[in-house]
Amino acid sequence: MFSKEEIMTGLDKMIKNPVCELKFETNFQLLVAVVLSAQCTDKRVNMVTDELFKTHNKPEDFVNIPLEELEEKIHSCGFYHNKALAIKSLSYDIIEKFGGEVPGDFDKLTKLRGVGRKTANVVLSEGFKQDAFAVDTHVLKVSNRLGIVKTKNADECEFKLKKFFPKNKWSRLHYQMVLFGRYICKAQKPDCKNCVFNTKCKESRI
Ligand code: SF4
Repeated sequence: MFSKEEIMTGLDKMIKNPVCELKFETNFQLLVAVVLSAQCTDKRVNMVTDELFKTHNKPEDFVNIPLEELEEKIHSCGFYHNKALAIKSLSYDIIEKFGGEVPGDFDKLTKLRGVGRKTANVVLSEGFKQDAFAVDTHVLKVSNRLGIVKTKNADECEFKLKKFFPKNKWSRLHYQMVLFGRYICKAQKPDCKNCVFNTKCKESRI
């Protein structure tokens, strides 16, 4: 098993500038983009939101747009019916309950439709610059491969990661693990030759 220092040093070498690849200008746009990103690539979400946010970028816009029209606009992100319902519902609640502003609070965020732990943590981390550790499929996969956790459960993984790593590194590590999992430690064909963990990693395919 790797120590936390080995993992942080290794990720710093491979992923020097971890950044969120979703494009947004406001916390509300970030929230919508993260909801759209479920089971979808950030690249596709950016293509959709590039157009969508030209005309619809505030909660009022999404309350007022007919469901079918929104479904049409976000169709290519997949699960468009549920995502459209979630975006309309969370927009309504943000206006009714939070004065039109996305709340910077985990419990309030997760009460919004379509917002689970991962989405709330991304919004808190990226939008509000709070220490948060969002666990998506990449973070879950990488955490298992590096032997930090042994679970398929994202919540369990999040709690373990938060105990394992220092709090002030959570957000950085989240993006490093996402990008590492996306471009190097890929699901089907991990690029173990170019991975600094390859001599000790039990999952190495070299
Ligand atoms: S050696 Fe391969 S499987 Fe192990 S962490 Fe690196 S890329 Fe992933």
